[in-house]
Amino acid sequence: MLAKETFNLLKKYHIHLDRRKGQNYLINNHFLSKIIENAQLDDSDIVLEIGAGIGTLTVPLASKVSKVIAIEQDKRIIPILRERLIEKDISNVEILIGDATKLDFPYFSKVVSNLPYQISSPITFKLLHYDFDFAILMYQLEFAQRMVAKPGEPDYSRLSVMMNLCSQTELLFKVPGKAFLPQPKISSAVIKLTPNKNPDVDKFFVKTCRALFQHKKKKSGKALLQSFHEICDLDFDRNTIRNIISHVDGRLIEERVFKLTPKEILMISRELEDVMEKI
Ligand code: SAH
Repeated sequence: MLAKETFNLLKKYHIHLDRRKGQNYLINNHFLSKIIENAQLDDSDIVLEIGAGIGTLTVPLASKVSKVIAIEQDKRIIPILRERLIEKDISNVEILIGDATKLDFPYFSKVVSNLPYQISSPITFKLLHYDFDFAILMYQLEFAQRMVAKPGEPDYSRLSVMMNLCSQTELLFKVPGKAFLPQPKISSAVIKLTPNKNPDVDKFFVKTCRALFQHKKKKSGKALLQSFHEICDLDFDRNTIRNIISHVDGRLIEERVFKLTPKEILMISRELEDVMEKI
């Protein structure tokens, strides 16, 4: 039913969806219900939806919560969204037209979105600057797996470390390509992301993490030496850099980057920062 409704609406408005704009519309009722269920909504919630499209999620969300803030960038889609809301007599949706990576978000308690995949990374990091209960988000499966990967696993990356320190992240279920129109070649997955209240990460940590993961398979001392320019733009000679790195716990320096836990990376960054403050 959802598939037919979506298909007919797009035909009526002569819309050709564009995958490059992240336009993969959900057409499967089963997965739609699972997303809504996991959001545990009640009438005190204000929900942020990024990439509302023709309102497939917006409509059921609006019926459960006090307000939905729906962001959509494609101006061709907005009239369909508006008309659908009027048709269904829904008046608690605020539509914001624009690029979700650039807009300031008004207050919200939860996020529920089938994200446009090309902005997965900037949107996820942007959300971590806001205070909210939790988010239920659809990502490309690959991206979702990198978000939840543990040290030593092949998908373990800078993203996994950041997610681990800034949030509780859980992969809830996978969604096959055939649940969308147009059908993407890859699968997707729904993640529950609960932000930590006061994450310990700062700019120095972010730089250290970036330097380390440029050489994921190397020992961390070597990785830091080779990418020290990511941490500090002062023109230190190699011996000075070696000397700075030698102040970090020897066991951590000898460990391969992909095996370091997020807490260990935090320790490395703190120790480096302490030494550098004294220089
Ligand atoms: N929520 C709908 C649509 C998902 S597709 C559904 O589940 O069916 C993602 C939507 O995000 C598309 O409508 C696309 O036009 C929109 N979009 C793409 N980039 C965007 C951006 N930077 N900011 C806001 N919306 C964007």
